[in-house]
Amino acid sequence: MTREKFINEVTTLTKFIQTFCDDKHGDLSRQESEILLDFKGENGVTSAKFCLCDECKITLFYALARLSECPHEIKPRCRKCPNPCYEKEMYKKMAKIMVHSGVKLGLSKLKKSLLGYLKR
Ligand SMILES: [Zn+2]
Repeated sequence: MTREKFINEVTTLTKFIQTFCDDKHGDLSRQESEILLDFKGENGVTSAKFCLCDECKITLFYALARLSECPHEIKPRCRKCPNPCYEKEMYKKMAKIMVHSGVKLGLSKLKKSLLGYLKR
């Protein structure tokens, strides 16, 4: 995995989990935080900013740890990975988050481009 790809993946992952937590856990106590991430021995390559409940924070940290240890030079989609590194329970949890946020972010992008189109 390249440095750029890693930074990209971190951004996407954080955004997806944040969207999910905003929708599902907005009423739980949440704290804003920011963490610095290392990549291949380089310190502070990128950072992740989030405001998550405890459960989602654990999921995010888990996913980030797996990501930085991904052995594939060209990272496959986790769903198609020949040797998935997620434990089953975490995988299920992430799949739920990805579906929820994927639909939501996909739709809002569509809506935005539709609005842009209508304004012309
Ligand atoms: Zn949450």
